[in-house]
Amino acid sequence: MIRQAKGKTPRRPPPKKPSNNQKDPVGVYCRVRPLGAEDEECCIEVISNTTIQLHAPDGLKANRNGEFKETQYSFKKVFGIKTTQRELFEDVAKPLAQDLIHGKNGLLFTYGVTGSGKTHTMTGSPGQGGLLPRSLDMIFNSIGPYQAKRYVFKPDDKNGMEVQNQVDALLDRQKRDSQTSVPKTPNTRRVDPEFADMISPEEACKAEGVDEDSSYSVFVSYIEIYNNYIYDLLEETPFDPIKPKWNGAGTPVRNITEFIPPQSKILREDQNHNMYVAGCTEVEVKSTEEAFEVFWRGQKKRRIANTQLNRESSRSHSVFIVKLAQAPLDADGDNVLQDKNQVNVSQLCLVDLAGSERTSRTRAEGNRLREAGNINQSLMTLRTCIEVLRENQMCGTNKMVPYRDSKVTHLFKNYFDGEGKVRMVVCVNPKADDYEETLLVMRFAEMTQEVEVARPVDRPICGFAAGRRQRNQAFKEELTRRLEERGGPVDGDCPTVLNQLLQAFPPLPPCEISGPNDDVTLPRLIEALEKRHKIRQMMIEEYNKTATMLKSVLQEQDGNILSKENVIQEQRGKLGEKDKMLQNQKNEIDRLEKKSKMLEYKIDILQKTTNIYEEDKRSLQNELESREQRLQREMSEKRRIEARMQGMVSDTKLKWEKECERRVNAKQLEMQNKLWVKDEKLKQLKAIVTEGKTENRQPQRPSREKDKVPPKRSASPSPAPTGPPVRPLHRRSHSAGGERWVDHKPTTNVDLDTVMQPNIPNAIKVNAPNEKALSKCDKYVLTHQEVASDGEIQTKLIKGEVFKTRGGGQSVQFTDIETLKQETPVAASRKRRSSESGPDSEPMEGNWTDVETRCSVAVEMRAGSNLGPGYQHHGYTKRRKP
Ligand code: ADP
Ligand code: MG
Repeated sequence: MIRQAKGKTPRRPPPKKPSNNQKDPVGVYCRVRPLGAEDEECCIEVISNTTIQLHAPDGLKANRNGEFKETQYSFKKVFGIKTTQRELFEDVAKPLAQDLIHGKNGLLFTYGVTGSGKTHTMTGSPGQGGLLPRSLDMIFNSIGPYQAKRYVFKPDDKNGMEVQNQVDALLDRQKRDSQTSVPKTPNTRRVDPEFADMISPEEACKAEGVDEDSSYSVFVSYIEIYNNYIYDLLEETPFDPIKPKWNGAGTPVRNITEFIPPQSKILREDQNHNMYVAGCTEVEVKSTEEAFEVFWRGQKKRRIANTQLNRESSRSHSVFIVKLAQAPLDADGDNVLQDKNQVNVSQLCLVDLAGSERTSRTRAEGNRLREAGNINQSLMTLRTCIEVLRENQMCGTNKMVPYRDSKVTHLFKNYFDGEGKVRMVVCVNPKADDYEETLLVMRFAEMTQEVEVARPVDRPICGFAAGRRQRNQAFKEELTRRLEERGGPVDGDCPTVLNQLLQAFPPLPPCEISGPNDDVTLPRLIEALEKRHKIRQMMIEEYNKTATMLKSVLQEQDGNILSKENVIQEQRGKLGEKDKMLQNQKNEIDRLEKKSKMLEYKIDILQKTTNIYEEDKRSLQNELESREQRLQREMSEKRRIEARMQGMVSDTKLKWEKECERRVNAKQLEMQNKLWVKDEKLKQLKAIVTEGKTENRQPQRPSREKDKVPPKRSASPSPAPTGPPVRPLHRRSHSAGGERWVDHKPTTNVDLDTVMQPNIPNAIKVNAPNEKALSKCDKYVLTHQEVASDGEIQTKLIKGEVFKTRGGGQSVQFTDIETLKQETPVAASRKRRSSESGPDSEPMEGNWTDVETRCSVAVEMRAGSNLGPGYQHHGYTKRRKP
C-alpha cells in the first residue's frame, strides 16, 4: 500500500494506519488463448465459465502406460478463446481502476508460460488494447476535468507526494515548456503509428462516484526486473562514453558506445512501510495518450536493452506503476489545499511477469543459463511466498514469508501483508506441448486463490462542504459573463435588466445647440446629466448595500453549512470510531471464540482421558472387590474347616477319653472279677479239699448235677461263696420277694421263644444298664446270647450284686453265670461232650473271660455308640443269628 498520511478534516489530526479486518481472496482469472495453428493438439477445455479441464496429451499418455489423466481447475472466472480485450477489462481491471480513483491500491499481474498471452493481455496490440491502456483510459476519462495543473503535485524522493504552491508550480511549468525535448501535453489525441488504435474512443468508460471537489494528478513509472536487478525504463540517461558500461548482471559490456545500459535500482521502505524503487522516475501525465506514450518509450528502451545486452525478454518482469495523487480543493474550490497530510496517493501496479517455464525456451547456455536460473528463482520465490501466506492464513501459523528473497516479491510485499486488491490473470496456451508447464501454472494459480488480502479501507472525506468546484466554476462563469457584458455593446441584444435600468433614468433633453447664443440646451443637458449622475450614485450605493447584505447573508449561510458539515463530519468520525470499536470487539469475539473452541477441544480431550481413567478405576475396583470377596470366602471356608477340625478334635478327644476311661474301668472290673473268680476257685478248691475230708464224692457233683438237671440246662458252678448250691428257679422265686433286680437284656438278643426265659418279678428291665436303675436295685442279671461251638445259641444269665462305690456310683460284682442251652437230640452227644469238657480249666477260663468282657461292654457302652470293640462283637453275634 502506498498511502500518504492523510486526514479526515482540516481540524483533525490524520488518523494512524486504518485498521481493516475484511479480507478478500486474491482474484484469480484464467484466460485461454486460441491455438496458434488449427492442427495443433489441444489439451485444455473450458467446461464452464469458472472451470477448465486439462487432459494429458496423447504422447504423454503413452509414456505413462496409457494412463488417462484429466484434471479440473476452478477460478473466479475463466475467459475462453473468444473473449475480447474489453470483456476481460470489464471483469478484471475496471474494478481496480475504479478503486485507484477512490484512493485504493491494486495489483494486477499476468502469469503463465511464454507465449501464453501475458503481454497480449496486459499490453495488447493496435486495435486490441490490453488491460494497461484501457485502465489508463478509464482513469483519465474519470478524472480528466478534475486534474490539477502540472507540478502542483510533486513526488518527494521518499515515495511521498507534496503540494507545491502556485508560483513554484508555474515556474516548473515554464521550465518544462522551455525544454524543447519534452513535448507539451497534446490537447488532441496525437497518434504514434506504433501504438495507434490501442484505445478506441467509443469504448471509453468512466469511474463512478469521482470526488469532484478533489484535484488529481497521475504519475507513471515503468520498471523492469531482470535477473533480480531493477531497472528504471523511464530514466533519461545522458550519454557518457568515458564511463565503463555494465550490464545488469554486473559484467562489463564491451563494444557498446551508443547504448548506455541502465543502472540497477534498489528497493527502499517508506515511512508507511511500503516498498518503492528508490530514485525511480515518476512522470506526471495528463492524458491517456501521454501516459501510453511514456509507456511506449519505456517499452522501446526495454527492447533495445534486450537486443543490446542479448537478453531474453520473456525472462524479465515488467512493472508499470500508475500513481494517482489526489487532494481536496480549498474552501473556495479554487486551488488544491496546501496540506501534504491531505494528499492521498493510490497506486495500481500492472505486472507482466516473466514466462513461468522452468527452462529457457531457447538454448540456455553460459550467461543465459544463469539468468534463466535467476528468473526461475524470482517466480519460485513468488510461489513460495504464496504458499507460506496461504499456510499462515489457513493454519494460523506465523511462518516468515520470504518476500526479501526476490525483488518482485519484495516490491509487492505490502499488497500481501498490508492491504490492497490483488488480481492475477493466468494465461494459458491450450497446446499440448505446454501441457506439463501449464499443469504447474494451474496448481500455482489454484493455490493463489486461497490467499487472502486485507481489503483497502475507504478514503476519509475531507471536512469541506461538497460542491466547491461547481460553485467556483459557476462563479467564474458568471464573472466572465458579467465582464463580457460590461465591455460588450449595450445595443442590439442588450440584456433586459440593463435596458430597464437605463429606462429608469430621466430622458435626456434634446442636445442640439441651435446657435452660439443657445444657452438653454447645455445647462438643461448639464442638469439632466447631473440628475442622472445623482441617480447613478444612489443606485450604486443601493447596489453596494444590497451586495454587502447579500454577501453577509451568503457568508452566514456558508458558515451555517460549514458548521453543519463539521457536525456531520464529527458524527461520521464518531461513527467511524464506533465502527472501529465494533470491529475490534468483533475481532475480540472471534479471538475468544477461537480460544473457547480450543478450550472446548482441550476439555474434550481431558474428559476423554478422565473417562479412560475412570474406566480403569472401575475395572480395578471391580477386580479388587472380587478379590476381596474371594479372600473372604476363603477365610470363612478356612474358619469353617478350622471349626470343624476343632469339633472333630474335641469329639475325638472326648471319645478317646471316654474310651480310655471305659477300658480302664473294664480292665479294672475284669481284674477284680478275675481276682474274685480265682478267689472263688480257691474257695471251691478249699471246700473240695475240706469236703474231701468228709465226703469223697464232692468233686463229681457238677457232672451229677448235670445229669439231674433237664438236658436243656447246664449249670455252671455256683458262684455263691457260702452255703450249699441252690436251684436257680427256686432261688429266683425266693428272691422275688425281697430283692430287686436289674434285668439287662440287650436289644440284640434273639427271642428264642422257649420256656427257659428268666422271669424275674419286680425287676427293672433295661436294654442297657444305667446308673438310675442300678441305684434302685441290689441284684443284676444280664441275659447274654452267643453261638456255641456246635452252632446253637446259648443263653447265659450272668448275675451279680450291685454295690455302691465310694465315689457315689454303682458297681456290679458278678456272682453267678447260668448257661441255658437248647439242644437237638442229634447234637446231644456233642453237647454233652462239650459240656463234659466243662471241668477243664482252660475252656472254662476262656468262656468266663469272654462273658466278662461282654458284660463290661454291656454295662459300660453307651447306647448308639458305633465305636469300640464291644459293639462289634455284638454285631457279629447278631449277624450269625440263625
Ligand atoms: P507472452 O507474453 O505470454 O509470452 P504473448 O502475449 O506475447 O505471450 O503472446 C504470444 C502470441 O500469441 C502473440 O503473437 C499474441 O498476439 C498471441 N496471442 C496471445 N493471446 C492471444 C489471444 N487471446 N488472442 C489472440 N492472439 C493471442
Ligand atoms: Mg510477454
